[in-house]
Amino acid sequence: MLYNEPSPHETRILTRRLVYPQAEPIGYEQYAAQQGYEALRKALAMTPDAIIDEVKKSSLRGRGGAGFPAGMKWSFVDRKSPKPKYIVVNADEGEPGTCKDRIILENEPHRLIEGCVIAARAIGAERGWIYIRGEYRRMIETMDRAIAEAYQQGILGANVLGSGTRFDLYTHTGAGSYECGEESALLESLEGKRGNPRLKPPFPATSGAFQCPTIVNNVETFSAVPDIIMNGGDWYAALGAPRNGGTRLFCLSGHVNKPGVYELPMGYNLLRMINDVGGGIRGGKKLKAVVPGGSSCPILKAEECDIAMDFDTLAKAGSMLGSGGVIILDETTDMVKFLYRTMKFYAHESCGWCIPCREGTAWLKKILERLDAGVGVSKDLDMVDQLAQSMFGRTFCALGDAAAMPAMSIIRKFRAEFEERIRSAQVFIPAPETRPLVVL
Ligand code: SF4
Repeated sequence: MLYNEPSPHETRILTRRLVYPQAEPIGYEQYAAQQGYEALRKALAMTPDAIIDEVKKSSLRGRGGAGFPAGMKWSFVDRKSPKPKYIVVNADEGEPGTCKDRIILENEPHRLIEGCVIAARAIGAERGWIYIRGEYRRMIETMDRAIAEAYQQGILGANVLGSGTRFDLYTHTGAGSYECGEESALLESLEGKRGNPRLKPPFPATSGAFQCPTIVNNVETFSAVPDIIMNGGDWYAALGAPRNGGTRLFCLSGHVNKPGVYELPMGYNLLRMINDVGGGIRGGKKLKAVVPGGSSCPILKAEECDIAMDFDTLAKAGSMLGSGGVIILDETTDMVKFLYRTMKFYAHESCGWCIPCREGTAWLKKILERLDAGVGVSKDLDMVDQLAQSMFGRTFCALGDAAAMPAMSIIRKFRAEFEERIRSAQVFIPAPETRPLVVL
C-alpha cells in the first residue's frame, strides 16, 4: 500500500486510522470498530440544514484545487427542486505533484463512503458516483469492494441504516485525462460524452450531472466530513487557519529527504514543512524554489518560502495552494528544462476545445523546447511571457491558466537563468537567422 512513514510533526485526523506500513485497506469491520459510521448515524438524526451549517462552520474548503467553501457549495442546491440530486466525487487526481487522494482511496475507502452518504443526506441526493482515473486500477477495485461491503451492511441502498432514505453509490472509471479533473468536463465524461468543459454558469449545484443539481467535490473534501460531523464545525475550523479550517494532505516531492504525503494543519509554515517534516533538502543542498500546490501554481523562490500554507496567504503572495502538491527544487534544478517539461504536459493535456489554450500551450512547448535544446534567442523569453499573458483568463476552462501561470512566474523569476542558457549556447550555434526551422 502506498503510505509513507508518518512524521511526528503531523496532525493526524484524516489519516489517524492508518498504520505504517498499511498492509491492507481498512475494511468495514475495522472501520466500524474505530468509530466508523458513527458520524453518519449522527447525521441521520440531524436536519439537512444542520449538517450544512456544521460544514460551513468548519471552513472546509475544496481540496481539489479551487478552495471553494464546501458548505456554501452544498447550500446552493435547491432541495425543493423536483429533479433528482446527485453527489459526484472527483477522484480524477492528475495534477503533477499530487498523490494524496489515492492514500484515502487505497487505504480507507469507507471514510470516503461515509462522507458521501452524509453529503447526500445534506442535499437530498439518492445517487452518487466516484469518478476515478482509469490508471488507479487498484483503488477502483478497493473502492468497489468497500461499496459492496457497505451495501451488505445497509449503509448504502434503499434504507440507509434504517433511516428510510435511499442512497446508491458507484465507481465510474475515467480514461486518464487531466481535463476530466475539471468538474464540468468530468460531468460530460460521466454522461458518456467527450470530456470537454461546459460553459458556466450554470454551475453543477444548479445543473450538473444529467442537468440535475449536483455536488462535485474532491475525495479529500468528502473524506473530511465525518470528523466534522462527529466533533463539530468549530472544532475542525480551530485546527487550521482563519477561513481555512482543518488539516490537509500535503504531497512533498522533489529534492527532499523524506518525500511523501503528510497531514498538516492548514496554515503550516512551508519552510518547516520542508525541513522538519520532509527532512530537509536532499544531499545538504540549498533550496532554490517551490511549486506550492501542484504544477499549475506560480512558483515561489527560496526567499519567498517562509510562508503559511493556506489558500489566502498564498493568493496574497501571488501563488496558490492548489491541490497540495508541494514540489521542492534544489539549487541544481535546471529551470529551463523544468518549465519545458511542465509545458509539455499541458500541451499534451489541452483538450483543444478553445484556441488560446490549444495553440498557446503548443507554442509554449515549442519555444521552450528550443530554449532547452540551446537554440533559443533572447526574444523567445518575451514571447513566452506575452503568449502566457494572452492566454491567462481568456480560455474556456482553467487549464489555460494552469499552463500560463507557471510559464509567467518561472520566466520572470528565473529570467537570468534563461538568458544564461541562451548566451552559453550561442557560443557554438549558428546565428538565429541561419538556424534550421526544424527545431520549431
Ligand atoms: Fe480545452 Fe484548454 Fe480550452 Fe480548457 S482551456 S477547454 S483544456 S482547450
